[in-house]
Amino acid sequence: MPTVAAVSEWLDECTHVFEGRVDELNELDGILGDGDHGTNMYRGFAAARRLDLSECPNANDAMRQVGMSLVGTVGGASGPLFGTLLLRVGATWPDHLTLAGVAASLRQGTNGVMARGKAVRGDKTMVDVLLPALDSLEADARRGADLESAILDAVDAADEARDATAAMVAHRGRSALKSESSVGVVDPGAVSTALILRTGATRIR
Ligand code: ADP
Ligand code: MG
Ligand code: MG
Repeated sequence: MPTVAAVSEWLDECTHVFEGRVDELNELDGILGDGDHGTNMYRGFAAARRLDLSECPNANDAMRQVGMSLVGTVGGASGPLFGTLLLRVGATWPDHLTLAGVAASLRQGTNGVMARGKAVRGDKTMVDVLLPALDSLEADARRGADLESAILDAVDAADEARDATAAMVAHRGRSALKSESSVGVVDPGAVSTALILRTGATRIR
């Protein structure tokens, strides 16, 4: 069982990381959308960080609180999507950590994002980072890898997948309106997703 403290530490680090990347994410979103993705993510995580998670009975509940806060404060298309991811992962995160359990939980979270946003693989969104990270976890689970190395593989897969969104044409969200000029630019939501996964991965224990 991860601890409430681990969720709090992860939240602190995400807030710090997004604070440092507001301009970069806004610039990417300025090319693909309306230029607010960095501001949205930082606002959402800063608000979630102000929650008093010490009242939470367990880490699953803490993750759900963070998810609800993101839905309510990030604004934009991304708030409900990142919020849904956290809500679903919080609802399904295993009590006893196993690779299969972690993969199943991320699968639930990703299904939630896809059901809510209707994006599929290749639409140039955060889904294009979630699915390859999940593919990597599930492939490692099938070959019997240990949890720690599988998580490292998955965050590497997420970084690679983030970079691969540059070549994609946007089909979902605001960036679909600028689909021609979207080629060559990395999707900002994909960058945020890779950051969230990497900061989270170091705290899975
Ligand atoms: P908004 O587009 O409302 O200004 P943000 O700029 O905060 O919201 O977020 C944009 C990011 O959200 C995109 O880069 C993309 O990754 C993600 N996104 C937008 N729409 C969808 C969708 N329908 N499904 C999945 N992800 C999406
Ligand atoms: Mg935007
Ligand atoms: Mg916006």
